[in-house]
Amino acid sequence: MNKKDSLLSIVCIIITALIILVVLIGQSLRIESRLVTLPQLKIIEANKNSPIKSVISNDIYSIEKCTFNTETTLIKLNNSTLTTADIGIPILCYHDVNPTKGNDLLLNPDKFRQQMKYLKDNDYSTLTLDELHGYLRENIPIPSKSIVLTFDDGYIGNYTYAFPILKEFGFTATIFMISECVDKDSYLTSNQVKELSEYGIDIESHTTDHSDLTKLSLSEQIDILEKSKHSLENRLNKPVDYIAYPYGKLNNNSKKAAAAAGYKMAFNLEGDYTDKKDNLYNLDRFYIGNSLSMSNFIKIVTLKRN
Ligand SMILES: [Zn+2]
Repeated sequence: MNKKDSLLSIVCIIITALIILVVLIGQSLRIESRLVTLPQLKIIEANKNSPIKSVISNDIYSIEKCTFNTETTLIKLNNSTLTTADIGIPILCYHDVNPTKGNDLLLNPDKFRQQMKYLKDNDYSTLTLDELHGYLRENIPIPSKSIVLTFDDGYIGNYTYAFPILKEFGFTATIFMISECVDKDSYLTSNQVKELSEYGIDIESHTTDHSDLTKLSLSEQIDILEKSKHSLENRLNKPVDYIAYPYGKLNNNSKKAAAAAGYKMAFNLEGDYTDKKDNLYNLDRFYIGNSLSMSNFIKIVTLKRN
């Protein structure tokens, strides 16, 4: 090989290296441009007529293989698997979180913290009710280890004890507030309700006065459900779309009344998982009281997945 030939080979190697570099930069830019976040995913999912394809590269969500349609979609976002499969969601129903003893509704804050730590250590994600509704009705993907935390009645311990623990673990939750009990003894105050809502804790309805709906006529039920919804909406300046039936009790009229009053979902206390086969106005929750052992808590949040 003479000097000219070897110079030519070096030039060829440099050109080849440059081409490879340009291709690599182009690819990485393309992956970057395909990064999507969960809210963007919802937009993609909503547009079902243009099937977008996706695949994972390391922890980066990029686009190639899964189609977004009504079938089950499995994709990865960072370390959490997202799914639209009908996995059965545990929705937990708490009441007060309070160190006072003597009533099973008063969950000791240490126990509550232990439960939240378990959920955090085991990679659970807490869903808002809007996210739950999107998953149940519009097939919007959720993390496969999803859970919903709810509190009934609106006790002051939700603010004093539960709220700091939820913040510590970065969890969201929903408080079903008896609308006429705001500012009453042992219930949340107007300012607390506002602060919780502004932080992102969902305040939803638990009727005006905690009536047993099954003892009321259809029109009486509609009346109570509407009044409670409007009262909370005026107080919070945001839509109130969800309700938990007092005592978890309902009849056929309650489902009709909840729909007629403009709610999007309603919750019972049947002690079962919520899945896509459930009626939206009769969604199941698990009661969590102070007497529940940690091992039974773990069973509730784990069982359906095995
Ligand atoms: Zn209640």
